[in-house]
Amino acid sequence: MTLIDNFNRRIDYLRISVTDRCNLRCKYCMPACGIANKLHSDLLSFEEIAKIVRIGVSLGVDKVRLTGGEPLVRKDIVGLVKILANIEGLKDISMTTNGILLKNYASQLKKAGLKRLNISLDTLQEEKYRDITRGGELKEVKEAIKLSLEAGFHPLKINMLLLAGINEDEIIDFLRLTINLPIHVRFLEFMPTKNNEFWHSREDFISYKEVVGISKGLGHVEDIDVHGNGPAKNFRIKHARGTFGFIAPLSESFCSSCNRLRLTSDGFLKACLHSDLKINLKDPIRRGMDEKSLIQLINLAVNTKLKEHILSENPISSSEYLMCQIGG
Ligand code: SAM
Ligand code: SF4
Repeated sequence: MTLIDNFNRRIDYLRISVTDRCNLRCKYCMPACGIANKLHSDLLSFEEIAKIVRIGVSLGVDKVRLTGGEPLVRKDIVGLVKILANIEGLKDISMTTNGILLKNYASQLKKAGLKRLNISLDTLQEEKYRDITRGGELKEVKEAIKLSLEAGFHPLKINMLLLAGINEDEIIDFLRLTINLPIHVRFLEFMPTKNNEFWHSREDFISYKEVVGISKGLGHVEDIDVHGNGPAKNFRIKHARGTFGFIAPLSESFCSSCNRLRLTSDGFLKACLHSDLKINLKDPIRRGMDEKSLIQLINLAVNTKLKEHILSENPISSSEYLMCQIGG
């Protein structure tokens, strides 16, 4: 069985927000006061997450990504990775983390079966890091990068969100990191959300094309296509150990090849980051709904998938969820 949406896209990738809590308050993502967190009893248990993943795998899902909030603040996250790693047919488990707690977990996560790791890092300057994250310590993330490489996460991905007027002067430094380290720097175009002090007008936006221009100053840039699944575009500075790429939802929408579903920490399945349509799986599971009916609900969610987002015409996502709740 496979999951095919109304526009003939095959869905094989599930992003799972394991918690809405976070140990940072990045200015572009969360209000300074944080958000009203869900009750622990409203969060999906590991068994419930595993049940949904198992059914997803029976429908052709073969990749999951754990995100948050901050996934490493969820108690016994390594235990969840172990449970998922035992699901037959699930080929790839990855995680997106801010890296603050990662030095304590990198090697355990690798042993538990985590295959790939993305660390979000928007600046290489301590003071700026504290400012953007409202208090985070850059040295923790640097240490985590070192230990993750030692633990065998190759290539390690670093997500750098392009923030106009804040970190564009560091694009060149992030590109230089790829010359000597086996990392993949992934530049993310900023997506405006309802709660955003970073988006005033289109002029505040840095397009991936500007980064491509800057990279050419570092030597010959090869267009490559590595790391498979997903909407990224990938390049390498000639002879560099690492690579770089882009997620460019505004400049070049990748909706036509979107293969993903999202599961919120409180158990709703969402087919699109930018839409409010969602299907409640948690309550039916807790009421004991049988697998056949759950499959119908999952198909219903898939059929709510929009043909495309309209961020380039109306650059404010209509989703009621903030990025910190749905995991980016
Ligand atoms: N806490 C984890 C972290 O920071 O990696 C996982 C959740 S975070 C919401 C996932 C990703 O979403 C991060 O790489 C972050 O930079 C990105 N993100 C947050 N707000 C964004 C926005 N408005 N536009 C684009 N990406 C955003
Ligand atoms: Fe920052 Fe990720 Fe937390 Fe958002 S969820 S505040 S991006 S660390």
